[in-house]
Amino acid sequence: MSSALGEIERFVDQGGPHLVATVNPEFVMRAQGDGEFARVLDSAALCLADGTGVVWAVRRRGCTLAGPVAGADLIEPLAALCARRGFRLFLLGAKPGVADELAAQLRAANPDLAVAAHAGGPGPSFDVETLERVHAHKTDVLLVAFGAPAQEMWIDRLRDRLGVAVAVGVGGSFDYLTGRARRAPVWMRRAGLEWLHRLGRQPWRVRRMAVLPVYALKVLSAGK
Ligand code: UDP
Repeated sequence: MSSALGEIERFVDQGGPHLVATVNPEFVMRAQGDGEFARVLDSAALCLADGTGVVWAVRRRGCTLAGPVAGADLIEPLAALCARRGFRLFLLGAKPGVADELAAQLRAANPDLAVAAHAGGPGPSFDVETLERVHAHKTDVLLVAFGAPAQEMWIDRLRDRLGVAVAVGVGGSFDYLTGRARRAPVWMRRAGLEWLHRLGRQPWRVRRMAVLPVYALKVLSAGK
């Protein structure tokens, strides 16, 4: 977490645009068959391991990685960093009102934080208003919560028009941090069982999650 925050701080000091992706096994599996998504992930300045499944694969390939950095865990310390350094934060995505509620929470925890929020949407019909708001806030760090792969494709499509230093795809994090969705308990996350918790709460994900055993087999068969 501390090196992820250090990298993001460096990206803002450098100026943008930098894409930060929070990669989980579903990302990896999609990228195998979706060349555009693979290209966008390859173009990321930083890919964070969102969960135990990716940490496991990375370690098996002989890379050292201290641990996962999930999008939902990144947001609060990132907001604190933004407050400390005077970086301007923008929360984009989720259902109407959710990003506003999270902005209020983050402001309460960090009175110096400059944070704005907008629900918007990934389709081009939302672009004009979203860009206007992002520019008007003089945004440095933009968090995009449209879910994957829509959020990464959206960041890539508008990359040169965003005018931000860093754009981070954060999936359903706004729902977690405002208490609309409940995350798996820490012991389950540590044991790599977050998928089981999600399946119990959101059974419609079963089709998306069918790739997970294939992911595990691929990681095992790729060797060390
Ligand atoms: N979302 C959105 N606009 C859309 C589709 C989804 O803002 O057109 C939001 C949705 O409200 C949710 C997030 O994107 O907050 C996706 O959450 P999910 O947990 O499905 O994403 P994942 O973490 O699996 O990528």
